[in-house]
Amino acid sequence: MDLGIAGKRALVCASSKGLGRGCAEMLAANGVNLVMNARGAEALEQAAAEIRAAHGVEVTTVAADITTDAGRAAVLEAAGALDILVTNAGGPPPGLWSDWEREDFIKALDANMLTPIALMKAVLPGMMERGWGRVVNITSQSVKSPIPVLGLSNSARAGLTGYVAGTSRQVAGSGVVINNLLPGIHATDRAISLDTGAAEAQGISLEEAKTRREATIPAGRYGTAEEFGAACAFLCSQYAGFIVGQNLLLDGGAVNSTL
Ligand code: NAP
Repeated sequence: MDLGIAGKRALVCASSKGLGRGCAEMLAANGVNLVMNARGAEALEQAAAEIRAAHGVEVTTVAADITTDAGRAAVLEAAGALDILVTNAGGPPPGLWSDWEREDFIKALDANMLTPIALMKAVLPGMMERGWGRVVNITSQSVKSPIPVLGLSNSARAGLTGYVAGTSRQVAGSGVVINNLLPGIHATDRAISLDTGAAEAQGISLEEAKTRREATIPAGRYGTAEEFGAACAFLCSQYAGFIVGQNLLLDGGAVNSTL
């Protein structure tokens, strides 16, 4: 299936590894030129070189913290006119409801709510003027089903979800669609860090923590960045123009609900 987006230009934030990398890779496989971002320059340059070699697209890299004003300004300047925006950043640390102070919430809100909102605010006017745009926000299954130890994530991502629900309907008439992808557990560094926390808390091995978590997923395994990236590429395709303000769960059936 030709997604009809060859030659488009996409910014994929936080994309040297994991889910962001999966999205960058699948967009590139469909002929999309990329602006890739992460804080660490070495892994970012390596990922960009691998994507250029595999798919022959143009890749611009910006090593910066996307959750800061200066980082976003640098990324947006290098990006220029964009057709596609994929927002992403690292997730907040786990903890207990009683431990989190105002500063912890501000940090989580900055990273996982206010950063994607600032990026959308910056790129939506250009997309609307040109009459075409796709935005995909990487959020979390915690939006549909709370993960108690990730209260900071539950809170910040719920705020972003509310913003997208309204904003997506305000821009859809200009040919710009905004949707969210909600990852359940995927085999990335983030999953290793979450499993390490669970292993320490329960006094079990990392492998056992992973096996126990897999047993809670109907698909019986973790998702892959490749599968996640393919869903992202579809939501960025020509065929996604009638999908507005949706929250697509990619969780192997882990969230037990009818709708
Ligand atoms: P990951 O494998 O740890 O990769 C994170 C990527 O983001 C890396 O390229 C990292 O590079 C970059 N990054 C992190 N913080 C950044 C920042 N402030 N500015 C720019 N780049 C940044 O994580 P992942 O599993 O792909 O997770 C991506 C998002 O999905 C996270 O918000 C996570 O909470 C959420 N999520 C993941 C899962 C899962 O199972 N994997 C499930 C639910 C939700 P640098 O460190 O070099 O910056």
